[in-house]
Amino acid sequence: MEGRAGTAVDVKSKVGPVILLGAPGAGKGTQAKLIMQHYGIPQISTGDILRDNVARGTGLGRKANAFMDKGELVPDQLVCDMVADRLRQADCAQGFILDGFPRTVAQAEWLDGLLKDQFFEKRCSAPPVVVNFRVGYNELLRRLTGRRTCPTCGRIYNIYSQPPRVADTCDVDGSKLATRKDDSEEVIAERLKAYERQTLPLIDYYRRQGRLREVEGEQAPEKVTAEAFRAIQDGNRL
Ligand code: AMP
Repeated sequence: MEGRAGTAVDVKSKVGPVILLGAPGAGKGTQAKLIMQHYGIPQISTGDILRDNVARGTGLGRKANAFMDKGELVPDQLVCDMVADRLRQADCAQGFILDGFPRTVAQAEWLDGLLKDQFFEKRCSAPPVVVNFRVGYNELLRRLTGRRTCPTCGRIYNIYSQPPRVADTCDVDGSKLATRKDDSEEVIAERLKAYERQTLPLIDYYRRQGRLREVEGEQAPEKVTAEAFRAIQDGNRL
């Protein structure tokens, strides 16, 4: 079967867990949505789940909000408990895409342990495939400052490179597009620092495990998608 990005993909094969790595703005959310549509496995975005908790004013949301507003990472324990709850849901049985998790080596070690738990071993024996999207600092800044999101359908736009047909309006459902609170220049700088200090070491962590697949994230979007699909298929054969 021909995949969306022109790659041959066996959609019936079990995909298993897919972990998307990359700095904020590297395109993980955009690619996760395409992978989700293609393979029929859910996108688990820890940022989206946290933002939803903040919007609903839950206990978790109140605790996480202070960190998110400053561009800092939410403490590991809070995020890991949240991820464990989400991964136990029925829709994750055939695999899932982790977008924004893990973000520290401690989270990655915790995830390795969780996937060895009998519950997950039985459900999804395939080891995770880790895809890292490489994007340079200037391009990340451009993407983050230009990012606009539809609050209704979640579609992501960029006012410089992928603008909506009508300014500030979603092409799909006509909603007014929103700018994320943490996409201000000051908070972006903090988020990129947190990435360098806490998340970058994960690349070596997964490289040592032989699980890492690198994708050049500054190519045309459809090329990035094609490479990501190829990386997932290659990773699954291991
Ligand atoms: P994102 O939407 O992935 O850019 O995440 C937005 C914010 O949510 C981050 O800046 C962190 O404050 C928080 N966050 C998301 N995922 C994690 C994670 N795995 N660990 C800690 N904090 C996270």
